[in-house]
Amino acid sequence: MSNTLPNATRSARISGFHKMSPKQRRAEVESFAGLDASAAEQLAKPGNIDPHLADHMIENAISTISIPIGIATNVKVDGRDVLVPMATEESSVVAAVCNSARQCYDAGGFITSMSGTEMIAQVQLVAVSDPENARLRILERKAEIAALCDSCDPMLVKLGGGFRNLEVRIVDSRGGPMVVTHIIVDTRDAMGANAVNTMAERLAPGIEQWTGGKVYLRILSNLADRRLARARAVWPVAAIGGEAVRDGMIAAYHFAEADPYRASTHNKGIMNGISAVVLATGNDTRAVEAGAHTYAARKGRYTSLTHWEADKEGNLVGSIELPLAVGLIGGATKVHPTAQACLKVIGVSSAEELARIIAAVGLAQNFGAMKALATVGIQQGHMSLHANNVAIAAGAVGDEVSALARILVEKKQVRQDVAVEELAKLRGQG
Ligand code: NAD
Repeated sequence: MSNTLPNATRSARISGFHKMSPKQRRAEVESFAGLDASAAEQLAKPGNIDPHLADHMIENAISTISIPIGIATNVKVDGRDVLVPMATEESSVVAAVCNSARQCYDAGGFITSMSGTEMIAQVQLVAVSDPENARLRILERKAEIAALCDSCDPMLVKLGGGFRNLEVRIVDSRGGPMVVTHIIVDTRDAMGANAVNTMAERLAPGIEQWTGGKVYLRILSNLADRRLARARAVWPVAAIGGEAVRDGMIAAYHFAEADPYRASTHNKGIMNGISAVVLATGNDTRAVEAGAHTYAARKGRYTSLTHWEADKEGNLVGSIELPLAVGLIGGATKVHPTAQACLKVIGVSSAEELARIIAAVGLAQNFGAMKALATVGIQQGHMSLHANNVAIAAGAVGDEVSALARILVEKKQVRQDVAVEELAKLRGQG
């Protein structure tokens, strides 16, 4: 039987690939994929990160990908003006935050708070015939567990963090009851995954010994509901275009609150803002996204991460609350020089401060998307920015990009085929 796959004769079993230099790996990849010279050159280009650093950050590194960092202006958080770096490949995300923040700036901007900086790690215990008894046996050891956890990370304890609490739950599962121990640890300015995972692993043998059961998983929960960041803001009804706009936005929120199909897109818009700051500061976008979406479904039905109301004066009041496990220490935050530079731009001195600003950005992003959706529609603003990408994809360079984008928007035809045609006309005129 013939195999029509183009690389059917090539093998992906490349021995010692991980031991090669990025250059050697690229050569392997180029020959495997039959890359043309321009693709090979592109992968060889350095970004604003040292190739050696990239090689140490992940496994089998061959290249880096640059994503634009835009600055959100007009953002006032707890009385302080901040410039917020946002790393995103999506047009209109940064503009939405700037516009939304401008419309609440004079009314005071964003007021924020945080529930704490505690993370949860879980230890899964199975094969216990007396789970209720096992639960109490573990809880009785609280002081011992606290000491063991703190001994794993004296540095964290010195910085005011460490073990805070113990909870033991019985989770009914398809495979029978499980006894799940939660250790709650204040990880201060670290996101804390490595810190709490180490503690959970060290605790496991003790739990087996005290209960006679078998421990399997020992890992943090990304549902960081002891690390909730909150932001609220008032948008004066006059500043947003009147009562009809406000009512349309509140109706948009009611839709997201009631319908998971809508809530998914509503929250995706919020995460456009949140993930962009998380990425720019070298934090873990997947951890924050997992926490946010799980939190949105915590009551059994997926719903909006934000709330929108009208106050006594008729102004639009928005609020957001979500888990935001971000750090200034650990992971890529300390290692990636661009993340370090972005942290200097944002000018925060604690992980809490960073999380609170990120929550404000999420709220601003949601305001921008809801206002557009409830009035002119999302495409008007989005397409004019997206037109630049379409122009570049059609081959426009330099000043041609904005000239061609303008033509596409005026024609209300932001399409690749039209862009190619119009670019030829534009060049013909020159
Ligand atoms: P880390 O272990 O590199 O750094 C944290 C340590 O730094 C602390 O344990 C402490 O000893 C020290 N420290 C120094 N100054 C500190 C300060 N001011 N506050 C707090 N601690 C300070 O990093 P981490 O934050 O434990 O782990 C984050 C990394 O773990 C991220 O890269 C993330 O992607 C990754 N990770 C995530 C998951 C997940 O989300 N499910 C799982 C595993 C790993």
